[in-house]
Amino acid sequence: MTDHTHADTLRTPIVAVLGHVDHGKTSLLDTIRGSAVSEGEAGAITQHIGATDIPLDTISGMAGELIDPSDFDLPGLLFIDTPGHHSFSTLRARGGALADIAVLVVDVNDGFQPQTEEAIDILRRTGTPFVVAANKVDTTPGWNPQDGEPIQKSMDAQSERAKSMLDENLYEIIGQLSDAGFSADLYWRVQDFQKNIGVVPLSALTGEGVPDLLTVLMGLSQRFMKEEMAIDVQGPGEGTVLEVKDERGFGATVDTVVYDGVIRNGDQIVVGGQNEPIVTEVRALLRPRPLAEIRTEKEFEKVGEIGAAAGVKIAAPDLDQAMAGAPVRVVRDRTVDEVVEEVKAELAEIEVDTAENG
Ligand code: GDP
Repeated sequence: MTDHTHADTLRTPIVAVLGHVDHGKTSLLDTIRGSAVSEGEAGAITQHIGATDIPLDTISGMAGELIDPSDFDLPGLLFIDTPGHHSFSTLRARGGALADIAVLVVDVNDGFQPQTEEAIDILRRTGTPFVVAANKVDTTPGWNPQDGEPIQKSMDAQSERAKSMLDENLYEIIGQLSDAGFSADLYWRVQDFQKNIGVVPLSALTGEGVPDLLTVLMGLSQRFMKEEMAIDVQGPGEGTVLEVKDERGFGATVDTVVYDGVIRNGDQIVVGGQNEPIVTEVRALLRPRPLAEIRTEKEFEKVGEIGAAAGVKIAAPDLDQAMAGAPVRVVRDRTVDEVVEEVKAELAEIEVDTAENG
């Protein structure tokens, strides 16, 4: 049974994708978006500014028998569109990582590479739960691709020789995770995801194993992050700047991921700036216009308010000095000074962290 009053206060977990260059981060994000859309239903995904929202219904449609949607009351997953650990480490929220959970992409043939190690260090330091996507299983010699299928079904269609070659590569990765201090196993063998890292074999090219990845991410979030996802949907909005961009007709705008509360048009906000916090007022909240309407209309549509978790472009005066990675806070029923101090404290923390860790 669904308890709507309760479910309405649980926000979508924010997911980031990390990994070594060319291991398939961008392809994986494209495939997740693409296969969600080909699920066919309108509203299969919602394009946000800088992020993509995959609702539980869509995930459950893709995952078939892997998921029983009644086991979940989190609304879905919000993937940050910009992959890579440079964006991940600059994107903070209240001193922690903006992403609630991460996917570490590792090419099954290449195994751990320098940027894999770097990503692991960052995940360890920020205490971000993660799963490993062992990507490019389709490159195993003799592979018989099973487009979009769960990995078990795909494994059943492979020759013994292909299976054992893949196994060898997967155990290599599990060994490398262990060397890095993480006990790991193939995800279907993991009993306790708080103690063990789940490894999901998949192919971003054929989509096989992608349903498993979404299932594991949902399961992990539901099991271990439900309390953090409980937010006051009417509370003052809190977010992190992804990017500062000039937009014709709006001047400097901030693309922002909102992770708590709600931002409304006209709200007074404080945004972290290069010299000092910027106090300003929201002139417009902009989202990408649905594709069907994009031809003659403008690129964005205005909305009256936006609640967590979501990506939104905020237009407001004086945003030229705003910084990527900086906090955005709605003032609402507090004093401006209080919120300015809060933003200063958070910026100081980010600077210390950057100085310590490069
Ligand atoms: P990124 O640098 O981590 O974002 O990697 P990309 O997504 O750009 O992928 C790098 C290259 O690997 C591209 O040529 C992709 O087409 C290819 N690639 C990514 N995933 C797969 C996969 O699952 N199978 C195969 N065969 N190629 C892949």
